[in-house]
Amino acid sequence: MKRHGNNGSNRMHSGLLDEQDAIRIMSGLASAFYVLDRQSDFIYINEKASGILGREGENLVGKNAWAEFPDAVPAGLKEMYDRIRKTGVPETKEIYYRPVGLWLQVDAQEIGDGRIAVLFHDISRYKEAEARLEVLAYRDDLTGLPNRRSAIEMIEKNIRNGEPFSVVLIDIDSFRQLNDLHGHEAGDHYIRQIADRLKGLLQDGDAITRMGGDEFILITGRTEPEQLKQWIREVFKQTAASVRLNDNVSFSASVSVGISRCPEDGETTAELLSMAGTAMHESKTNRGSSFMIFRDEMRTRIERRRIIEDDLFSGEFKKKGFSCVVQPQLDGECGSLIGIETLSRWNHPELGILTPDEFIPIAEESGKIRELTIHLLNLVLAEGKSWTEKYGSVPRIAVNVTSHLLDDRRFYATVMEMLRKWNIPPERFEIEITEWKEILSSDLVLSNLRKCRSKGISVAIDDFGTGFSGLSYLTNFPVDKIKIDRFFVSGIGMISKSEAILKSIVSLAEGLNCGLIAEGVETEEQLQFLLDIGCRAVQGHYFDAPLPPGLFEEKYMPASLSC
Ligand code: C2E
Ligand code: CA
Ligand code: CA
Repeated sequence: MKRHGNNGSNRMHSGLLDEQDAIRIMSGLASAFYVLDRQSDFIYINEKASGILGREGENLVGKNAWAEFPDAVPAGLKEMYDRIRKTGVPETKEIYYRPVGLWLQVDAQEIGDGRIAVLFHDISRYKEAEARLEVLAYRDDLTGLPNRRSAIEMIEKNIRNGEPFSVVLIDIDSFRQLNDLHGHEAGDHYIRQIADRLKGLLQDGDAITRMGGDEFILITGRTEPEQLKQWIREVFKQTAASVRLNDNVSFSASVSVGISRCPEDGETTAELLSMAGTAMHESKTNRGSSFMIFRDEMRTRIERRRIIEDDLFSGEFKKKGFSCVVQPQLDGECGSLIGIETLSRWNHPELGILTPDEFIPIAEESGKIRELTIHLLNLVLAEGKSWTEKYGSVPRIAVNVTSHLLDDRRFYATVMEMLRKWNIPPERFEIEITEWKEILSSDLVLSNLRKCRSKGISVAIDDFGTGFSGLSYLTNFPVDKIKIDRFFVSGIGMISKSEAILKSIVSLAEGLNCGLIAEGVETEEQLQFLLDIGCRAVQGHYFDAPLPPGLFEEKYMPASLSC
């Protein structure tokens, strides 16, 4: 290398920096710097560079870079420098240099004759921060599992890979109750335990992620229903085992699982997640732990649901075939009319006849049950008003009321206002409530019921005998009437257990001084049995199906005698 003088005037004269000047300037910088010749022998290396590379104080000039630093070859530097020599294009690369345990950013360029000038610095701190951020961004804090964002990226990667795979959505059924009952700390503890158990079920290539709340997603290469079923059986086993929350309390829950498969159920992340969600919701309708693999007809159900929701939201349902029917409740002994139960009907212009079992839960879940019930009340109470005017009296009108409605501050005032509006005495009105065990805990529900009863409105427990745990509740609950579920009635003459339960319900009602009615009476034999055990009030197809109000009026109102 040609040596130039380094006095300032020289440079001033030429007005140019030469190579030596440049090297001097580079060396003075804080960065590490070296120059290699065509054979990759060091021509120059500054102290900072030899320091970072762990060779402080050594003179490396004249020595070969790859012989001195063999680990730099697998880190990709040799390849990079060779390429730069060929192309003349400067390059930057981040490498992990193992011997010193540092991340280095390396900027290299060709400076003529195959020589490479290299500037590098330690970026380990920045790399660590980046790794920490990545952990934060892709990990779920509570469980340490990959989070929603990772799940989405994993699904996307799997789609790109083109191999079939399944998205398995696992939702814990009564997690909200756990939180409400035992607090969030207990909830967090439970989720962590479940996460650990699910992790234990992973096999090669599977990943489990937490989507938030009580939802987990498993991404797996298993797509055969039989394989999936086996795995899910294990999930059920793990989740059924109770988790100890503290010294006195353990908790176990059922889970609902929905599965979508790529490519048959969807080819985008959004589709696969949505289909898994749909399948999960379907499996929620089953009691206990259950799972569903997405099926095409579920797509049709989603579309149906969307149409129903839209019509409920816009209020269009009122003009689109929604109506009420009434079913007579009779004294089975003498045939006189005791009351009527109001039921919703919906003959939809596009979807055909919808059953209440389909649209009532949708109204409930989408927050539209109040509008629906108010509309229904307007329909039936208007009939009641006209019957009062025509016949001088009105049968007791029962209406089904869901827990959401009862848990609403406006409930009592709304009902009273409607009765006033249609001139129906409160004693001629009845509310039927189901799911009573669940709603019992709310003070608001109890106060709504007490206020209604204080005005003479009667309260009936619907579907009695199904899904309740403690009869003792009944003694504290403001109830006038028990409605025996039709399941027990249908067992008459066939299931002796049903008959035994019917007898005990009758004596329970007597003991509590509570009214009683049996629904779903379809045969003479059933009627006779009920009368024999002392249940006189009956409702069912044996007498009449729910009728349009006009038909009911014709058949029952003129002759509504009492025994
Ligand atoms: P539910 O309150 O138990 O109503 C009785 C159901 O049994 C009605 O079904 C009725 O049509 C049917 N039924 C009556 N007699 C017989 C019989 O002899 N045999 C058989 N097999 N069935 C009989 P529907 O109308 O399909 O209603 C189903 C459920 O939907 C109702 O059960 C009720 O829980 C709910 N529902 C209906 N209308 C409304 C409404 O306006 N509001 C609310 N919240 N729920 C409603
Ligand atoms: Ca009912
Ligand atoms: Ca019922």
